[in-house]
Amino acid sequence: MKIAIIGTGYVGLTSGVCFASKGHSVKCIDVIEEKVDLINSGKSPIFEEGMDELLTDVLGKGLLKATLDAKNAINEAEVVFLCVGTPSSDDGKINLDYIKSAAKTISENLNNHKVIVVKSTVVPGTTINVVKPILEESGKSFGICMNPEFLKEGSAIKDFLNGDRIVLGVDSKNTEEIMRNVYTNFPQEIFITNPTTAEMIKYASNSLLATKISFANEIGNVCKKLGIDSYDVMDGVGLDKRLSRSFLNSGAGFGGSCFPKDVKALLHKGLEVGEPMTLLKSVLKVNDEQPLRLIELLKKHINPEGKNIGILGLAFKKGTDDIREAPSLIIIDELLKLKANIFAFDPKAMEHIKKLYPNINLMNNAQEVVDNVDVVMIVTDWDDFKNPELYSGKIVIDGRRIKTNAEVYEGICW
Ligand code: NAD
Repeated sequence: MKIAIIGTGYVGLTSGVCFASKGHSVKCIDVIEEKVDLINSGKSPIFEEGMDELLTDVLGKGLLKATLDAKNAINEAEVVFLCVGTPSSDDGKINLDYIKSAAKTISENLNNHKVIVVKSTVVPGTTINVVKPILEESGKSFGICMNPEFLKEGSAIKDFLNGDRIVLGVDSKNTEEIMRNVYTNFPQEIFITNPTTAEMIKYASNSLLATKISFANEIGNVCKKLGIDSYDVMDGVGLDKRLSRSFLNSGAGFGGSCFPKDVKALLHKGLEVGEPMTLLKSVLKVNDEQPLRLIELLKKHINPEGKNIGILGLAFKKGTDDIREAPSLIIIDELLKLKANIFAFDPKAMEHIKKLYPNINLMNNAQEVVDNVDVVMIVTDWDDFKNPELYSGKIVIDGRRIKTNAEVYEGICW
């Protein structure tokens, strides 16, 4: 099938490359020329395991092309995916500006019947009440589908090609048939529903995962005071199939482009309809405070003022270069307030951090950080940091439960 994808970030590019790998002919549209050029030259603008190889493969087969030319790509396509960002506004409300602008681009270039698919995460009601009316301005016929994306950064390609389910919120049997063709060669179970329910499935899923993490952190914080290892606790808890062990690792808290903004957006939507969502409010509160617990543990051992402090791990989790809402940012801000000298390293996120903090000491590897500092704080569990010898003779404050031979070791929840 001919597919156009608007927005070539983590979701758009992964979708494009994966659909092309299944034999579809894909045009990836973006407004940033540099991204388009990089993609066409076989280099992914984002770091994802296996992305460069798959991108080179589908480019070589002529199945994918990135372009700035939205008109042509939309005109040729049978199905158009919306994969632009949906960030938080200052008050936590979802910002739909990119969605509206991309929907307008589609509306202005609709030339025959197509299915328009919202893949971006949008609050319930957006597809029908915001996107659909913009498309209707075209006066042309179209089908509409809300197809939330469940990939995780760090395993995006694997998740896209082989995740647990595909949710299709469709407006008609005809749209369902076309969407089933898009996903013909995918092994996942397909769950058919309406667009608004599909939107809520995404928010409920992310909110529940975020809740599991904050729950594990809250239990972990008590475990720390009681001298209990919270990982052992969750290993025992997770044997119960109703609960599952995943997303129960305590640590420095969740970050990234999804959980914080999606929980905030759902909270805001809840307030709009008179539901204050007390549980989710607490999930965010626990998460906001969690990185600061590492600073409190640090202060137990050293006054950070004027001291050299190391940070290992800046991306919000391993396997990605994404630093959006990463716990490392809260830790850096707090250490700068405390007048510490920061030495930091991340295997993939250095370019992004350099733009935000040009004045901290960014090192070439973990060893260089350790060699320069009195205390090491572990904030992301990259495999590069899992050599116990690296920490010999140091004070280590660990937010990710890495085994070390440190002189003094302090885990956040164990
Ligand atoms: P991103 O910020 O990485 O990428 C968005 C891309 O859209 C950018 O390249 C931007 O230049 C482009 N863009 C913006 N407006 C455009 C326009 N009018 N025309 C063409 N291109 C345009 O975003 P992302 O992380 O891929 O997230 C996209 C959506 O998917 C969000 O709603 C997000 O919540 C959701 N989502 C993200 C993830 C994830 O792990 N990142 C997982 C599931 C769902």
